[in-house]
Amino acid sequence: MNDRNTSKEEIRKAISAAEKVLIGIGGEWKLLEDGRDVRSRSLKDEAQRAVREAYECLSRLVEDKDYYIVTTLTDGAIYDADFDPARIVAPCGNIHWRQCSRACTKDIWEEGEVPSDVCPHCGAPLTGNTLEAETYIEEGYLPGGKIISNGRPKRLTGSW
Ligand SMILES: [Zn+2]
Repeated sequence: MNDRNTSKEEIRKAISAAEKVLIGIGGEWKLLEDGRDVRSRSLKDEAQRAVREAYECLSRLVEDKDYYIVTTLTDGAIYDADFDPARIVAPCGNIHWRQCSRACTKDIWEEGEVPSDVCPHCGAPLTGNTLEAETYIEEGYLPGGKIISNGRPKRLTGSW
């Protein structure tokens, strides 16, 4: 495991031999700065090629495996990669999901679902449903958690 190539081969072998793979994703995988707000950035952007290729490589490594991913990132990019969303948990939230900034409700909406970006219950501005929210609503990321999608509850977390 002294040089990079040996290390990669060791990882490939370990994953190949594993029955289940638990993947932890952190700051090294976040979308790169491109001068725009993180909500405007996407894995599809040319500026994100390195991150996109890393996700593609990881996806190919585990595509035939019983894998599960825990990410501390809130940029939502992993949901645009080729993973089963039911195998991803993002306990720190997702900037693309919106919550009431006053947390008057546990409802969470997908970006654009409330075009005014104002809480339909109390009129407060919506904010990103992430740990950075003053009143973070984490229920969506707990077992059985749901967001409202097109008026219907939708599970955010998978089960393994
Ligand atoms: Zn509200």
